[in-house]
Amino acid sequence: MMELKGKKVLVVGLGKSGLAAALFLRRRGALVTVSDVRSAEALAKDIPALLEEGIMVEAGGHGLLTFRRQDLIVVSPGVPLDTPELVQVKKFGLPVIGELELAARFLKGKSVAITGSNGKTTTTALVGEILQEAGKHTLVGGNIGVPVVALIDESADDSWAVLEVSSFQLETTEEFHPNIAVILNITPDHLDRHGTFENYARAKERIFAAQTEQDCVVLNADNARAAAAASRATSQVYWFSLEHPVTQGTWVADGEVMYKPAKDAAAEPVMPLSGIPLKGEHNVENVLAAVCAARLAGAPAESVRRAIESFKAVEHRLEYVATLNGVEFYNDSKATNVDATAKAIAAFSTGIHLILGGKDKNSDYTLLADLLRSRVRAVYTIGSAAAKIESQLRGVVSLHSCETLDKAVSAAAAAARPGEVVLLAPACSSFDQFESYEHRGRVFKELVNEWRGWKVWQNA
Ligand code: ADP
Repeated sequence: MMELKGKKVLVVGLGKSGLAAALFLRRRGALVTVSDVRSAEALAKDIPALLEEGIMVEAGGHGLLTFRRQDLIVVSPGVPLDTPELVQVKKFGLPVIGELELAARFLKGKSVAITGSNGKTTTTALVGEILQEAGKHTLVGGNIGVPVVALIDESADDSWAVLEVSSFQLETTEEFHPNIAVILNITPDHLDRHGTFENYARAKERIFAAQTEQDCVVLNADNARAAAAASRATSQVYWFSLEHPVTQGTWVADGEVMYKPAKDAAAEPVMPLSGIPLKGEHNVENVLAAVCAARLAGAPAESVRRAIESFKAVEHRLEYVATLNGVEFYNDSKATNVDATAKAIAAFSTGIHLILGGKDKNSDYTLLADLLRSRVRAVYTIGSAAAKIESQLRGVVSLHSCETLDKAVSAAAAAARPGEVVLLAPACSSFDQFESYEHRGRVFKELVNEWRGWKVWQNA
């Protein structure tokens, strides 16, 4: 474990995990400075607490000297690694790590870490609930809920930390090695920041880079890029598949989730697919990954089954909102990339009125064309990506330019017939018109409820 007392540490980026890292470092005796490009006004709510703790704050930009006079730099996942000040200090040999790496050096007990382009939060929540149900001392954090550094004090030799980790967090790891790593899938996302698909995929593979033969990695056999990662793994490889049995891991046979703990072991039925309370095949994939990780962590099949049967969809992940005049409304605001939207469409057979758009992430919407033709009655576009989406999908599906979410909800709700579905699965990030995908999802739910009121008034 590294010594922090008296060390000069700079935390770059004052987001949720940067703030947690700064406070943790200070409490362990480090001399901490925080630097953020946002203005002092924008950071106002956090500054008093930092000063109170004796943490120095630099707002409104990074000073190169602030970066030079340090023993360690801890960078937040939101800060691009090609920030000039970071590039320079790295050249001078200063160690630059992320909050996840910092936390990993102090976290006690064992860990399961979950990454992937989509499904991380759902799978992390599933594994957390299964281990909890199995009576294990379980801590859940990372991208979901609390930052990993905030779990350190509660961690113990017998605890299991279940961590949702993003490609941004993995870019800055060195020694981080979960006992069980999961890569759910690797499909194009965040190309605006990682540049190429291969860079992005390599960042995800860092989840097992420091693993040993005692550790395990669980990979998706049905996703080409995730499966290809096996050739670089130095730990024991387990698989999950919707399509076929695997050598060791989980799959589906005759409506049952099956698990095989080792190549030469017998396969065991874990639970029926009918016991999974979530919509869509992608959620069966998440369940398969979660079952494999949880069984490897020692949870009995009985706990796995009980925890999954009582699991509730996480908010904004294909969340059922209401049925109005026979039309179902679903909120999948977290579908912030094309693959997540494809999975959301695939969860319904036909008659979908789909709301698409927001801030583009350099995505290719033509990948949706086949699904749109076969299942979607009309697309309602919103946000700054609308023009690009419309030009890519013209002729494929009926398109309505709505600009804003409220116009899109009204237009879709008015056009949908009983038995059809209005689905918000926008394939874009939310930052052009909303604070976050959560904000966008909440506004959608409020609009649906207003529409409900309008309908009641109409009918009366
Ligand atoms: P993440 O934390 O990786 O963003 P979430 O569980 O929050 O994952 O789900 C994000 C979005 O991706 C949601 O829109 C959800 O419907 C969709 N999704 C969930 N699991 C998968 C999966 N295994 N493959 C593809 N899409 C998925």
